[in-house]
Amino acid sequence: KAYVPGAKPKAELEALDKELLELVAELQPTPEERQRQQDALEAVRSALVKRWPECKVHLFGSTANQLSICNNNDIDVCLELPGLPTDANTKGEIVEELGDLLMEAGMQNVLPLPKARVPVVKFVVGDNSVKVDITVNNILAIVNTKLLADYVKLDERLLQLCCIVKHWAKRRQVNDSYRGTLSSYCYVLMCIHLLQQRQPAILPCLQSLKPATFQRTVGQWMCDYYDDVEQLKGFGSANKESLSELVWAFFEHWAWKHDYNNAVVSVRTGGFLTKSQKEWTRRVGNERHLVCIEDPFELTHDLGRTVDRQTNGVLHKEFERAACVLRDLPSPLEKLLEPY
Ligand code: ATP
Ligand code: MG
Repeated sequence: KAYVPGAKPKAELEALDKELLELVAELQPTPEERQRQQDALEAVRSALVKRWPECKVHLFGSTANQLSICNNNDIDVCLELPGLPTDANTKGEIVEELGDLLMEAGMQNVLPLPKARVPVVKFVVGDNSVKVDITVNNILAIVNTKLLADYVKLDERLLQLCCIVKHWAKRRQVNDSYRGTLSSYCYVLMCIHLLQQRQPAILPCLQSLKPATFQRTVGQWMCDYYDDVEQLKGFGSANKESLSELVWAFFEHWAWKHDYNNAVVSVRTGGFLTKSQKEWTRRVGNERHLVCIEDPFELTHDLGRTVDRQTNGVLHKEFERAACVLRDLPSPLEKLLEPY
C-alpha cells in the first residue's frame, strides 16, 4: 500500500494546511498560562535560595525552547549547585532533601524520585497548580534545551511540525517514556532530523557547522556547536514544502520507510548511523534498542531504549494509522487526533 506521490489533490492539501496552522495557533500557550508558569518558577526559586543562597535556578524543556503546547502546563526546572559532585547518588540525596524542603514551603503532591536515572522531584505549586519537575545539576538538559531552541529559531516549520506531532502523541497516548513509548524530547529530535533530511534541507546540522561558536563540556561530553543562528536565517528557504507535506513525510517515514533493523537517527551528524556503529545491536539489561534515536550530546544514550517489543508494536501501529488516515481521508485531522 505504498504512497503515490501527488495522490492528494492540491485543494485537499491546501485545506489541510489551513486547518493544521489554525490548530498550531490554538495550541500555543496563552499569555495567562505563561504568566502562571513564570509565577510558579519564582515561587520555586524563592524556596530554593533560602536553603542554597549560591544556587542558580534554570528553566529548561519546552517552556524554555518555545515548544510547549497549551493544557500541558508542566515546567522543567534545574537546580544548579556549583561545586556539587555530579554523581547520581549525591543528586539522589539532594533530591530527598529537596522533597522535604518543598513540602515545608507549601508545595503539594511532592514526590521525590531519588533513584531515577535522572533523580527528580515532582510536585505542584499550591498557589496556581502548575506542575513542576526539579532536577539537580542537570546541565546537559540545559544545553540540549538551548540546541533545540536554536533549531526552532531557524525555520518556523519546525515549531509547527513539533506542535502537531507532540499533540498527536499525547492524544494517541504514545508520549510516555516511563511506559515504553517516546518522550516529547525524542519526538522533537525526530522532527529536527526529518527537516535535516528534506531535499533541499530545511535545517542544517548545527553540530557539524564550523566554527563551534558555542562551547561547553559537561562531564565527559563535548557539547560544541555553531549557534550563530542569525547568520543562518533563510537556510531552508529553497525548500517550499508546506506543513501538511511535512506532517505526511514524518508519518510516512516512521510507518513505512524507517529501517528499524539497522538505522539510528542522529541529529548530531544530520544523517543516519547504523546500530553496529553505535554497538546498539543487542539487548543489554533493559535497553533493547528497537527504535534508535541518538542523544545529540550524551552519545551513549539511545532515547528509544525504553521501547520494548510490545510498545514497539503499539508505536508502529500508531505511525501506520496516522499515515493511512492522512493518505486516505479527504479531511483527516479529526480522525488523526482522535483520543485513543
Ligand atoms: P512537554 O511539553 O511534553 O513537557 P518537553 O519539550 O518539555 O515536552 P520533556 O520530554 O518533558 O520535553 O523533556 C524536558 C527536557 O528534559 C528536554 O528538553 C531535555 O532537555 C530533557 N530531557 C528529557 N528527556 C531526556 C533524555 N532522555 N535525555 C536527555 N535529556 C532529556
Ligand atoms: Mg516538559
